[in-house]
Amino acid sequence: MNKVNLQSDECVIRKSSKVRHSGFMVSYKNELILTNLNIIYVKKGMFGRTKDVQTFPINQIKMYEGKPQVMLGKQKNGSPSLEIYFFNGQEIFGFKRKTEVVKWIRCINQVLCKEADSAATGQFAIPGTELIAETIKDTITSFKSILWNREKVSANCTACGAVITGYKGENIKCNYCDTFQKIQ
Ligand SMILES: [Zn+2]
Repeated sequence: MNKVNLQSDECVIRKSSKVRHSGFMVSYKNELILTNLNIIYVKKGMFGRTKDVQTFPINQIKMYEGKPQVMLGKQKNGSPSLEIYFFNGQEIFGFKRKTEVVKWIRCINQVLCKEADSAATGQFAIPGTELIAETIKDTITSFKSILWNREKVSANCTACGAVITGYKGENIKCNYCDTFQKIQ
């Protein structure tokens, strides 16, 4: 495919030129287009002709706590980049200006948050989203419980009676008499 063909319900939200995809020695001559459905990378050849078109569906962007995993990064040469985490990998687009990346992040956020809202009201179904949200929630819950188990407690040193503090079950040394003991 070497032409940008938008679907009938696909609208352009943002378009930037002077973009490059990850890779060395690639000049900033390509285009990046955000629609309500896709991120489209348009490779330009000689005389600005379209050489290649790559499409990245935005419903494949990972979400965390309702926010798409899209962030401002830095390329090896120090220029800003737009980092997008898709279910099947990360894509990095190099930009010349940081402000442009920030605008892209804001737009992607707006589009995806709107979609998530409509998904909640049942207008759109995003396959797999619910399952992923559940998995993340479980992970957070178990992570929290690990933290909670490490409850900070204070007790009296078994040797000298001084107050000692530490995490429950931890082997600690009394500051006064240097006795090692398990704090409960
Ligand atoms: Zn002691």
